[in-house]
Amino acid sequence: MAADYRPMWTELGMDLKAHDALLDALGKAYQDVFLSQKVRPEGMSYLDFVMSEVHGLRIKELNDARATGRKVVGTFCVFVPEEIVLAADAICVGLCAGAEFGFEEAEKLLPRNTCGLIKSAFGFKLTKVCPYTQSSDMVVGETTCDGKKKAYEIFKDIQPNVYIMEIPQMKNTADRQLFASEYWRFKEAVEKLTGVTITAERLKKAIITVNNKRKALHRLALLRAADPAPISGLDSLLINQVAFYDDPVRFTGAINKICDELEGRIKQNSGVAPKHTPRVLISGCPMSVPNWKLPLVIETSGAVIVGEESCVGERGQRNLVDEKPHTIEGEMEALIDRYFKIDCAVFTPNQDRTDHIISMAKEYKADGVIHYALQFCSPYTVESYLVEKELAKHGIPMLKIETDYSMEDVGQLKTRIEAFIETFRQPAWSH
Ligand code: SF4
Ligand code: SF4
Repeated sequence: MAADYRPMWTELGMDLKAHDALLDALGKAYQDVFLSQKVRPEGMSYLDFVMSEVHGLRIKELNDARATGRKVVGTFCVFVPEEIVLAADAICVGLCAGAEFGFEEAEKLLPRNTCGLIKSAFGFKLTKVCPYTQSSDMVVGETTCDGKKKAYEIFKDIQPNVYIMEIPQMKNTADRQLFASEYWRFKEAVEKLTGVTITAERLKKAIITVNNKRKALHRLALLRAADPAPISGLDSLLINQVAFYDDPVRFTGAINKICDELEGRIKQNSGVAPKHTPRVLISGCPMSVPNWKLPLVIETSGAVIVGEESCVGERGQRNLVDEKPHTIEGEMEALIDRYFKIDCAVFTPNQDRTDHIISMAKEYKADGVIHYALQFCSPYTVESYLVEKELAKHGIPMLKIETDYSMEDVGQLKTRIEAFIETFRQPAWSH
């Protein structure tokens, strides 16, 4: 980090000593996981810069914006519509955390058998190491899984201005009505927070901004269908993670530049791994920064990841909002339509997700699927049974992984993943 941000962090109420320890671990992990990769696209230097300043320059930007009266809204779930936040001239940031940090503190408030995502968000807050949480003027929780829903009741004690959005569990007409009324209620809450009335014009602009971001991410996703793969799964995951923190317009420009570069690589038939390298699709729970464990194990075990069916990935970013409506009612309907399609495992039944995994596996020419569930996450661990059954009908092999943020099981994971990859590795003579 170029500047001294310590006065800013102190002002945000952070614990500098604990934060130093976090940054130290993060910097080392970043070096080992990302900077050690070979033949990275040059455009990834933008992501390296963003990550080196993720607690510095970006937080300063948020701080400067807040000083002019703009608000920051922190979210934990892709059901929270970023467009509504942007339309009120506020800034939307993701707060999910992917590190085993502050778990001891978190476990004083939560049962031990709570998933790592929830414990990590609590741990970061309790140990005062997350400048995004500290900068948030409103934090939006949602009633998705039981773990999150109940945890927010406690989170309210440690974080001011927690807003709860109700998410239904089925996709019938009555559920859509509830979902729609919750989006209107959220719009009002954001207007109240910011003092800005969300007009049709403002919302249209925000819809276009977020659509452009999603188009760039989808462009990237499609380029990964090429063999040799033009970019690693690790770098692609990083891009999807940064999508939750960075300024959306600047980010979109940087990702489109990377895509231009990848198109050049594809034309020259070059990539990050040789042609015919085993190709894996990851499906399951979202992976938040700095949760890079599983992709690292996969990509150092002889495979390349060609897609993520995840909220930090295609589940969270696919489907655009219809840009045609020009009244606020029409735009809100278009938003609701888009978000109601998200096929999170908290819904029942959830056939769309399985169908999407199959279509992704085919489109990105994956040889197999690695289903990733965080320990104690019932929605995804339970749903993995049906996913595996359906994939088998299409001849797509699947490996189920249930893990957490600790590094203890890395050796065991590597053994299982290497064995899985061997089942579809093509012998060299067949190329
Ligand atoms: S997995 Fe479900 S609860 Fe988690 S971020 Fe995605 S939509 Fe939200
Ligand atoms: S990973 Fe599973 S248990 Fe954890 S917050 Fe997401 S849906 Fe809930």
